[in-house]
Amino acid sequence: MGQIKELVQSQRKFFLSEATFDYDFRIKQLRALRSMLEKYEKSIYQALKQDLNKAQYDAFTTEIGFVYNEIKHTEKHLKEWMKDEPVDAPVTHKGTKSFIRKEPYGVTLIIAPWNYPLQLTLAPAIGAIAAGNTVIVKPSEFSPSTSSLVAKMIGETFDPKFFAVVEGAQETSEALLNERFDYIFFTGSTAVGKIIMREASKHLTPVTLELGGKSPAIIDKDANLSLSAKRIVWGKYTNAGQTCVAPDYVYVHHKIKDKLLKEIKKQITSLYSKKPLENNDFVRIINEKHFNRLSGYLSNGKVAIGGNTDPEQLKIEPTVLEDVSWDDPVMQDEIFGPILPVLTFEQLDDVIVDLKQREKPLALYYFGEKEKKQEKVMTSLSFGGGCINDTLYHLANPNLPFGGVGSSGMGGYHGKHSFNTFSHQKSILKHTTKFDLPLRYGGGKLALSVI
Ligand code: NAD
Repeated sequence: MGQIKELVQSQRKFFLSEATFDYDFRIKQLRALRSMLEKYEKSIYQALKQDLNKAQYDAFTTEIGFVYNEIKHTEKHLKEWMKDEPVDAPVTHKGTKSFIRKEPYGVTLIIAPWNYPLQLTLAPAIGAIAAGNTVIVKPSEFSPSTSSLVAKMIGETFDPKFFAVVEGAQETSEALLNERFDYIFFTGSTAVGKIIMREASKHLTPVTLELGGKSPAIIDKDANLSLSAKRIVWGKYTNAGQTCVAPDYVYVHHKIKDKLLKEIKKQITSLYSKKPLENNDFVRIINEKHFNRLSGYLSNGKVAIGGNTDPEQLKIEPTVLEDVSWDDPVMQDEIFGPILPVLTFEQLDDVIVDLKQREKPLALYYFGEKEKKQEKVMTSLSFGGGCINDTLYHLANPNLPFGGVGSSGMGGYHGKHSFNTFSHQKSILKHTTKFDLPLRYGGGKLALSVI
């Protein structure tokens, strides 16, 4: 653990040298990251196959391709993002100029989960580098092939005093959290998020917490059913439901429930074949513990679609449960697997009243054609981010901040939002010495009104 202390110290020394302040330095690092990914693309596919049985197409669109896009977008805009941002001032400030300078925090720590083990380790790192910080990442121990490949690639490409990987489990995270960082970016469960915030508070280190929760998909009676089903099936069963923004459950208008189930079944067959367990490209559950936890949910309510499992391959069929209630275990915690409970409602207002009482989810999806109702749902309910008539797609727009609210997290990232997340917004006022207005020195009432 002494090595961790030394690593943090060496990064702090390097940061204090101001080498990372330079635009050219940052761009060079981003290019090196891109070349590294290009060089190792094949090995990345292999590692993701080993860890989660991800197919190459999925691995490209949700992991490598995502990171390439993020680098490309950052390279294109970095110069503009780094510029000082001039702001207006009140008349009392005649002779001054005010601006915001984006200042790197310093030594940053990124702790990542296992479900998108490449994307969720490197996408935040792009923001940290772009903003001029040094970076230490700790990948998840539950995706060991990707973790060791990330350590090898970064170790070969970057000087550890600027960008380093520390592999390990909980104890390693704890040892890292004993050190003083200038920013901590955590992606993972709400329970561990609380621990991270507590540890960070010892040094008053600011944090971004990208957590989880139960994200609903609401299907209203006028929704385009086949398209809604297609987009829900894709959003739910991609990565076998092990996606933080996957629709956790469906709330459907009772009159269209049966039709929706039929459409969902059709879409599952079209995307994953009639026997998804035999589909070589269907993602597996990360480990036995999660496989057993998820298998336990199959006895909740009634299986409407799927329900078969393969314990040897740790695979669970795309499954839909009906007749489920909020008291069932499957409705207590985030599911994080290919099991979709379907609840029904009669009035949209009842759904809104119900969801307002629950923890704020990371995502929320509303399917329906009426703009008034779309607006009502988007305004009345609090959630990290979401879509009208789609699932997941909001997170692939780099212009939208991605993050949670309440128990689903705090802060956001992607694109410019990543750059801002990893930058302190330093306020600077520059005053002329050519003249000096007497206003503020007036004392008493006048001085107070200026301030
Ligand atoms: P996790 O919280 O168990 O682990 C995340 C990371 O924290 C791992 O690197 C792990 O080693 C480390 N860790 C575990 N226990 C720790 C402790 N006591 N102290 C310090 N570090 C500790 O999460 P997970 O199982 O890897 O991921 C699944 C969760 O992550 C789900 O809840 C999911 O919704 C959430 N998630 C959120 C996002 C997002 O962007 N908001 C993305 C992916 C996953």
